[in-house]
Amino acid sequence: MNTIVDGVLGSLRTGAGDAMRNMQADDRQGYIMALDAGTTSVRAILFDEYGMKVAQAQRSLTMVYPNPGWVEQDPVEILSRQIACMIEVQFKTGIHSDRIRAVGITNQRETVVVWDRRTGQPIYNAIVWQCRRTAPIVDALVADGYADLIRERTGLIPDAYFSGSKIKWILDNVEGAREMADAGELMCGTIDTWLIYNLTHGQVHATDYTNASRTMLFDIHKLRWDDELCGILGVPRSMLPEVRPSAGDFGRVSSDVMTHHPPIAGVAGDQQASLFGHCCFEPGNVKNTYGTGCFLLMNTGEEAKLSQNGLITTIGIAEGGHIEYALEGSVFQAGSTIQWLRDELGIIKTSAETCDIARSIPDNGGCYLVPAFTGLGAPWWKPDARGLVCGITRDTDRAHLVRAACESMAYQTYDILRAMEADAGRPIKELAVDGGASKNDFIMQFQADLLDLEVVRSEIDETTALGAAYLAGLATGVWEDRAELASMRRSAARYSPSMDAPERERLLAGWREAVRRAIA
Ligand code: ADP
Repeated sequence: MNTIVDGVLGSLRTGAGDAMRNMQADDRQGYIMALDAGTTSVRAILFDEYGMKVAQAQRSLTMVYPNPGWVEQDPVEILSRQIACMIEVQFKTGIHSDRIRAVGITNQRETVVVWDRRTGQPIYNAIVWQCRRTAPIVDALVADGYADLIRERTGLIPDAYFSGSKIKWILDNVEGAREMADAGELMCGTIDTWLIYNLTHGQVHATDYTNASRTMLFDIHKLRWDDELCGILGVPRSMLPEVRPSAGDFGRVSSDVMTHHPPIAGVAGDQQASLFGHCCFEPGNVKNTYGTGCFLLMNTGEEAKLSQNGLITTIGIAEGGHIEYALEGSVFQAGSTIQWLRDELGIIKTSAETCDIARSIPDNGGCYLVPAFTGLGAPWWKPDARGLVCGITRDTDRAHLVRAACESMAYQTYDILRAMEADAGRPIKELAVDGGASKNDFIMQFQADLLDLEVVRSEIDETTALGAAYLAGLATGVWEDRAELASMRRSAARYSPSMDAPERERLLAGWREAVRRAIA
């Protein structure tokens, strides 16, 4: 192998730590490119055949806020920056498309693009998942009595978050769009579909089951677009992409972008890709991503469990000829609470220092912070609740507030996981974690103590991109089966519970009382 390339690879390789294994990895020929089309940035990441990250290129995305609560992005910017990353990562490593065996895509979910079938040009900006403009559309659906139908067929709780109402908005508000849609002249899709369509030069208009399950238009039991829901939301079936398994054939990257046009062979929404990247292959396996908010997904196997606790039922994994469902719950305020300490209260300088500050005191001193800044989500569902700090005494200082903020991520996660266990009817064995705040050893140890479970952080930071790479690699025979993927899994840290039961109960009782007050 070219020594310059070796040198580049050596300096770019991250997280390996095992020199012997790296040398072997350099000798291997094949790589997988994962495209991680996130909300704030797009990336192209190269993984070797050991599932190790070799290099990445990243570009940030511009957010457009045309009105309060509205969030958009330019679909052409998403595409062109994604392609720029694909090209940059090849040139900076010397690993070109002749050695890239497959491409996987993972994406911000629910965000939609509508484009002209004839020209391929978007007729409006992408409406981003966070955008609240379609809340009145969803309120009207609920008022018309469709909530149960939506829930039964799609597993979702009707919300502006999901794609269907966003497509309807574009058709209703862009001049001429409705007529074009009715005439079959428009196409639509989530960001995976938009990328696939353009990377294949318009040859493939497809999505995968996980992304389809976030639209409020897809029957997750019958595994097809639901004509009745499409009718209710006024979305013609002719606009919608074909739905395919997450590991499979999504065409080839056109030679305009990659000379040797590798196959696009893995596609999944970001949270589902993360579930797969963590090798959560068994029913009861759970992952939590600790970012700005927390996203929890539990594999529930081949049974779609409807939640009694306000969790969402979604398609978790569509690989290997069958569908595995998942329960999903999210914590609205997680890392954002740490940002609040830094930006609004000014009592910390960096997120990372919260770990040492929290550890500088022996316990929370009875102080709890319920970060219900925008209400409380699952399993409480109290949109009118507001944040509070309670249990303050004359001894309470900055460390108590910081500790209470850190602990609040673990308490909220605890509440969702217990709800998931109840809904799934099976206990959780361990918790796989990723995301920025999962680097905080204090929070992870406290989480393990609260749950009385092992918490495991994976060696690869980019579990989401890794999941997309795994799917693409399975579809193209780079890896034989899931057992091979599981054998490559390496954890960076493992936190074992060490709190006794009475202490755990005492802390949880304090948290429940704080939540009760926040709701009251
Ligand atoms: P996202 O993908 O949602 O932007 P990241 O996974 O990059 O989020 O995580 C960033 C969030 O995690 C921020 O809200 C930040 O405050 C928080 N965070 C990052 N590092 C730490 C840490 N060491 N301890 C606590 N919180 C952290």
